[in-house]
Amino acid sequence: MLLNCGQPLPLLRHTDVPPRVKENFILTGYRFPNYSLKDCLLSAFRPTNETGNFWTHFLPVFIFFYHFVEVFGWENAPNGDDAFFYPLWNYFIGVFCLLMASSLAHLLNSMSIVVREVCFFVDYGTISAYTVGSSIAYYFYIHPRAGLQEVPQTQPETTRSSYASLDFDLFFEALYIPIACAVAIICILSCCNTRQRWRKYRYVIRTLVFILPFFVSSTPVFYRLLTISPYSDKTSSFASSNTMASFFYRHCFWLLLSAVVNISKVPERFAPGRFDIWGHSHQWFHCFTFLSILDELHMIKAEVRAILLSPSLLLGPESSPRLPGPTVASTYGVMLLLQTTIVSVIAWFSWKANRIYGPQRDQLLKDHPHMHQKCH
Ligand SMILES: [Zn+2]
Repeated sequence: MLLNCGQPLPLLRHTDVPPRVKENFILTGYRFPNYSLKDCLLSAFRPTNETGNFWTHFLPVFIFFYHFVEVFGWENAPNGDDAFFYPLWNYFIGVFCLLMASSLAHLLNSMSIVVREVCFFVDYGTISAYTVGSSIAYYFYIHPRAGLQEVPQTQPETTRSSYASLDFDLFFEALYIPIACAVAIICILSCCNTRQRWRKYRYVIRTLVFILPFFVSSTPVFYRLLTISPYSDKTSSFASSNTMASFFYRHCFWLLLSAVVNISKVPERFAPGRFDIWGHSHQWFHCFTFLSILDELHMIKAEVRAILLSPSLLLGPESSPRLPGPTVASTYGVMLLLQTTIVSVIAWFSWKANRIYGPQRDQLLKDHPHMHQKCH
């Protein structure tokens, strides 16, 4: 917090901030919407109504990293830069960007009304990119053909290859990733739009458009749950893969809970003003979404471990795989293309936001010039 003449800037009531900045049922603890960058960064250490929102997505970055790196120490695990781990790194990039962008968006959104809009566009963009990062990991580790080598026609098919002889080939191999990307773009477009129109139903729309990528991304998991395990009974791979279901159900439970608090605005709805600083619904929303990500990570790790425990299923360079192994183009390339599109969408909406809210921001600066004057 910038100390003007040694005094922290006062926090404001909901009646003292522009309507754009107000949150339902949050009455106090607002920062003035024209802070400097330094003010914003220092406000992380002062109880405002955004402090909890920042920490509930910033601290999880370290918890996530702690659980993530465990994979590289497992038996049979190739080096961290091996192509086998490209999808896992893309998943990491998706989650890391999501948590960092979300926490920084909450911290920096009081720089100006326009910056506030940009922060939330970036937030939505990283959520979209995260869903594609998940899809890439699901595609290569939970895909019905993950790790499967082509079986010559002359040889009897193994249980695993029979398992993967599906009518879903076209969907999984040709449509799954493109649809996941298309849905991600639809999501960011819809969410950004809710900040400029459809205001009344914004929480419902934002929640609903993120249910859609969940159903698309999770199709390999649904398939896995509805069919028998691809691994032989009593193998270590079978045991590891079998734990996936419980992680997935818990992942769904946390997602559902996060949607409920985000839409209902509980608990502050029942006691406006009481949860302004700590305990309001957005902080719970952050906690539940992180728990859902953590269970998703455990689920992906269970499948990675199952593949690593069956080295014969790992694709060698000389093999003729049914599902081509991950390449730079099919992992980082897809992510880069998506991120470029997302950045373009964010730039477009930011330009529009600057046209809409620029005059209001300039007026605030004129009305409150003392907020940025230094002491003499
Ligand atoms: Zn948030």
